[in-house]
Amino acid sequence: VGCKSEEKMVSDSTYMLGTYLQLSVWTSNEAKGMDIIKTAFERIKEIEDKMSANIDESEIGQINQNAGRDYVEVSEETSELIKKAVHYAQVTDGAFDPAIGKLVKLWGIGTENERIPSEDEIRDALSFVDYRKIEFQGENKVKLSEPEMRIDLGGIAKGYAADEVTKIMREKGIKHAIINLGGNVVTLGKKTDGSSWKIGIQDPFEPTGTHMGIIEAHDQTVVTSGNYERYFIQDDKRYHHIIDPKSGYPAENGIVSASIITNSSTDADGLSTSVYVLGLDKGMKLIESLDGVECIIITEDKKVYLSSGLTGRFQIINNSFQIVN
Ligand code: ADP
Ligand code: MG
Ligand code: MG
Repeated sequence: VGCKSEEKMVSDSTYMLGTYLQLSVWTSNEAKGMDIIKTAFERIKEIEDKMSANIDESEIGQINQNAGRDYVEVSEETSELIKKAVHYAQVTDGAFDPAIGKLVKLWGIGTENERIPSEDEIRDALSFVDYRKIEFQGENKVKLSEPEMRIDLGGIAKGYAADEVTKIMREKGIKHAIINLGGNVVTLGKKTDGSSWKIGIQDPFEPTGTHMGIIEAHDQTVVTSGNYERYFIQDDKRYHHIIDPKSGYPAENGIVSASIITNSSTDADGLSTSVYVLGLDKGMKLIESLDGVECIIITEDKKVYLSSGLTGRFQIINNSFQIVN
C-alpha cells in the first residue's frame, strides 16, 4: 500500500555549443528534475568554455594561441578528448582530423564570414592540418608544432558533452531521460512503460524535425552528421561544414548523412564525422570492424545503407527512401 508516485517528464532547452539543446528527464519530483537539468546545462557551459575553438580564453584557444611556441597545460578532460580525437584521426588515416581548425576558420561555414576560399588559401590552410603534429608532454600538456596550426574539437565535443550529461543524470538517480544536443541523442534507460525509445532519423532533404525513419534504442546514443546542419549555397552548390582534409573542400562523396548508434556518444560523434568523410565503402568497413557500433548511411540518391547489426531495428517511414542491404 501507499501511494506510488507517478513519474512526469520535466524538460528544458537552451542554445549552446552552437546548437539547440533539449534535456528531458522523468521524475516524481519536478523541482528536483529542473534542478538536475540546470546542473547539466552548467556542465555543458563549462565544457564549452574549456573546449571551444572560438573562445580565446578556452583551453583549446590557449593551445591555438601558443601554437609553434609553448606547451599549454590543460585539464585532464580536455587532454583526454584531444587524445581521443587523435585516436580517430589515426583510425581513419586523417579523414577525421582535430587539427582541422585553420580550414574550418577559412571556410567560416555557419558564421558571418562564410565564403568559398581561393585555391591558394585552401592549399595553404591544408598544409597546417595534421594531427601528427599535435604534441603531448607529461600528464596534460599540449603543443601544436607549427605556429599556424589550430585544433577544433567541433566534430567530437558535443558527443563528449552528451556523455557527461548522461553521467550526471545517472548519478542523480534519473532512470529515464532523453538528452538531445543538436541531434546528438542519448537515451538513458527505457521509457517509463518499459519499451524502447523511438528515435527519429532526420530526413536530410526536409526541414529539421522531419524524420525519414525510426530506430529503437535504450541506453544508447544516436549521433548524426549531415550536410544539412550548417551550410551555405552558392551557384546552386551546397558548401557544408564537414571538411575533407584531403581536398580542403566540404566532403563530397555521395553521402548526405551518417548516423552512428553505440554506447558512447563521444565515440559516436567522432565516428559520425569520420564516416561522413570516409564515404560509404570505407565508412561502412570501419563501422563493421568495431564491436557494438552500428550505422545508418544515407546517400544523395535516397538510398539507405545499414550496418549488419541494425537489421530489424530500423524502420523507414518515408517510402521515397530505400534500404539497399
Ligand atoms: P555537427 O557539428 O553538426 O554535430 P559533426 O559532428 O560532423 O557535425 O562535426 C562537424 C564539425 O567538426 C565542424 O563544424 C568542424 O568544427 C569539425 N570538422 C569539420 N571537418 C572535420 C574533420 N574532417 N575532422 C574533424 N573535425 C571536423
Ligand atoms: Mg561528429
Ligand atoms: Mg556532431
